[in-house]
Amino acid sequence: MSTKSHVGMEQKVCPVCGQAFDTGTILLDKRLRNSLDRHTVTGWDLCPEHAALWKKGYIALVECDPQKSTFTGGTIRPENAYRTGRVAHIRTAAAARIFNIALTGPVAFVEPGVVEMLGQLQPEGEHES
Ligand SMILES: [Zn+2]
Repeated sequence: MSTKSHVGMEQKVCPVCGQAFDTGTILLDKRLRNSLDRHTVTGWDLCPEHAALWKKGYIALVECDPQKSTFTGGTIRPENAYRTGRVAHIRTAAAARIFNIALTGPVAFVEPGVVEMLGQLQPEGEHES
C-alpha cells in the first residue's frame, strides 16, 4: 500500500550492495502536498557499512552481468547494473595498479571473473604500505 503523505523518511540506495537504507532525514513537502511515500528513495549513496570501507581507502568492485546490464558510454550506471551479488573490496591504490586506470569513485562495476581473479592474487594484508 502506498499512502502518500507530506512527510516521508528519506532513503538512499547503496550502489555497492543495492540496498535501500534510511538516511535519517525527514523529507517534507514544502507545499504540504501528499506527494511523498513513507519511505522515499531520493538517490544513490553509500550505506554506512560501505561508506566506512570507502573512508578506509577501499574501493568496491561490484560484479555485474554484462549481458543484463545497460552500458552508457562504456560504463554502467548504478541503476543499470545487474548485480550478480559478488562484491570485492580492495585498496584504491591496488585497484589502480590492477586496472591500470585511476579509479576516482567508491564503486567500480566489473565483469564476472574479475572478483574471482582478485581472490587468487596474493593477499596484500592489512598493513599499510
Ligand atoms: Zn552498501
